[in-house]
Amino acid sequence: MSDLQQTTFTLDDLRARAEDRGPIASEVGLAVLGHPVEHSLSPAMHNAALEALGSKLRYAKIDCPPEQLAVAIDLARKAGFTGLNLTIPHKFEALNLCHELDDTARQLGAVNTLLFDGSHIVGFNTDGPGLVRAIREVFAFDLRDLRVMVLGAGGGAGSAAALQCALEKCPRLVLVNRTEGKAHDVATQAKKLLHTDRLEGPDDPVTVIPLEESALREQLARTDLVINATSLGMKRTDPRLVPAALLTPDLMVYDMIYRPAVTRLLEDAQNAGARTANGLSLLLHQGALSLEIWLNRPAPLDVMRRALDKTA
Ligand code: NAP
Repeated sequence: MSDLQQTTFTLDDLRARAEDRGPIASEVGLAVLGHPVEHSLSPAMHNAALEALGSKLRYAKIDCPPEQLAVAIDLARKAGFTGLNLTIPHKFEALNLCHELDDTARQLGAVNTLLFDGSHIVGFNTDGPGLVRAIREVFAFDLRDLRVMVLGAGGGAGSAAALQCALEKCPRLVLVNRTEGKAHDVATQAKKLLHTDRLEGPDDPVTVIPLEESALREQLARTDLVINATSLGMKRTDPRLVPAALLTPDLMVYDMIYRPAVTRLLEDAQNAGARTANGLSLLLHQGALSLEIWLNRPAPLDVMRRALDKTA
C-alpha cells in the first residue's frame, strides 16, 4: 500500500494494465489523474479506507498530460476500473467526456469524480459539497449562513468554492482575483445560480473587488468567512495576499492550502485572534464523498483522517 502512495504511474503503465500486463496491479481499480500528481495524498487516504472496509480495490496516482485525458479515461475503463478522481488540470475538460453529469458537476462546471458503469461514464463534483462539510466541521457553521469572501475566485478551486456558496444561497459573496475579469465571469455564473440579475453594488449578494488593500478593508468589515483559494502561501517566500492589519478576531479564515499546515495568511489570522483552518478537511470530505459514489457505502472518515494526518 505504501508503494501506491509513493509510486506515480504513467499513461504507458495504464495502457499496459488495460492489456493485463505492466506495473499497475490488478487490484488497482481507482486512481487520481493529474499533471502534476506526484504530491497527491489521495492514495494514502483512499487505500487506508479501502483496507478498513475490507475491499480488495486499491487506489493509485497516474500522471496524465492534459491532451491525453480522453485516452486515459478510455484506458481506465477498458482496464475495468471502478472510477477515477481528476485533479489539475483535468476538471474542466472532463465535463465534455462524460455521458452523464450530476447536478453539482453541471452547476459548478467541473468534474472531479468519474464512475464507470459499463461503457457509460458518469461525472460528479464532490469539491463543492466537500467544502460545505469541511466548513461545518472546522467552524461549526453552515456556508449558507455566512458572508463569504473568496480569494482566487477565478481559479479552479476558487470558482468551485464561489459557485457552491451561490448554490448554498450565502447572504453575501465577495469575489477577489488577481486577474479581475475571471472573477467577473464567475460572478455572472454565481448570479444565475442565485437567480439574481441585479447590477453589482454595495448591497448586491455578489460583488467583485480588485485585490487591493482599500477594497479588501471595506469588504472584510462585512465578511464572516475568508476562503483562500489562490496558490499563494504554498511557499514560505510568497508575499502576503491580505495585509495582516486587515484581519480581525471576528473572522473565520479557511486556507485551501494544507502544505504548509499553517500558511502566512493563517498565521496572521491567528495572531489577529481569528479562527482558522487549513485545507486538509476539504481534501478529506471531497475524498469521502467520492468513495461513497464508487462503493455505495459510508466512507470511514476517521480512518481517512488518520491516514492524512500521518502523510500531510
Ligand atoms: P488554479 O486554477 O491554477 O488557480 C490559482 C489561483 O491562484 C488563481 O485565482 C490565480 O489568480 C491565483 N494566484 C496565483 N498566483 C497568484 C499571485 N501571485 N497573486 C495573486 N493570486 C495568485 O489552481 P487551483 O486548482 O484552483 O488551486 C488553488 C489552490 O487551492 C492551490 O494552492 C491548491 O493546492 C489548493 N487546493 C486545495 C484543495 C484541497 O483539497 N484542500 C483542492 C483544490 C485546490 P489568476 O487567475 O490571476 O492567475
